[in-house]
Amino acid sequence: MHSPPQNPHDLSRHDLPGILATIEDEVRARFDAREGKVADYIPALASVPRERFGMAIATLDGDVYSVGDAQVPFSIQSISKVHTLTLALDAAGDALWKRVGREPSGDPFNSLVQLEHECGIPRNPFINAGALVVADVLLSHYDDPEAALLAFMRERSGNAEVGRDEEIWTSERRSGYRNIALANFIRSFGNIENEVDAVLDLYFFQCALRMNCVDLARSVRYLAGRGVCPGTGTRVTSIERSTRINAVMMTCGTYDAAGEFAFHVGLPAKSGVGGGIVAVVPNVLSLCVWSPPLDDKGNSLLGAYALHRFTRMTGLSVF
Ligand code: GLN
Repeated sequence: MHSPPQNPHDLSRHDLPGILATIEDEVRARFDAREGKVADYIPALASVPRERFGMAIATLDGDVYSVGDAQVPFSIQSISKVHTLTLALDAAGDALWKRVGREPSGDPFNSLVQLEHECGIPRNPFINAGALVVADVLLSHYDDPEAALLAFMRERSGNAEVGRDEEIWTSERRSGYRNIALANFIRSFGNIENEVDAVLDLYFFQCALRMNCVDLARSVRYLAGRGVCPGTGTRVTSIERSTRINAVMMTCGTYDAAGEFAFHVGLPAKSGVGGGIVAVVPNVLSLCVWSPPLDDKGNSLLGAYALHRFTRMTGLSVF
């Protein structure tokens, strides 16, 4: 069943609904109520039912396929770092790379340790430190960066209902001690220009957005489409930038598990502690998977497994 065809990029050769159904069965059979841990350092995330599973595929031809809880909204958390990076590159151009690097950190996503030696320049835009600098860029550029980000998310996903989850926002705003420390530390080096509270508000806003797997798969289609959103034909970013965002997703999108992801999945991907992961097959499709229990690196355990099975069954890895 489902052995990869000769030319995996020809989607007519794949039974995508059948592949999704098989993955859902396999994932549900593997589900172990003891394995993985739903994030609880943001108290409001701890109450999400751990057995949820959804997956969605959005093709460049405009087709969407989904299974399970793909229509159930969840907290997108760090997946939002892909979208804010896209907006910040548009706002600041390549000068952004003077303020944020593009090397994997090899440390946990919320670590402070490298910043001291590296003078407040975060290793990459997908760890929390880097995303805080990206948020600072958006604050300097837009009069109302929350509205700009929300409009971007709604337009990219095609869902005008995308919005902030108040409970998650309040919960993280109250308990985000590490992020508060990170923002102050970076500001002490001069790599944050705006008031720390404003930067944190924007960062917690992006993390608290609620979207479902279908929304999220659609929201990153421009990264499969060389910067162009299929359907509307809107150019979201340049070919070069979309290629580079994919490169940074591949090397840094799943933190210090990026090597394992490249090995087992072979796709640019970005995870969030809400249990979602988006991934991109350049020139073909984008996808999103959601399963709340996380591994010790903060990536969805079964989400990673589902993506691994997807690339094995379809042959659609970048390698
Ligand atoms: N809001 C989370 C945090 O800052 C995002 C982390 C994540 O999804 N990896 O800790």
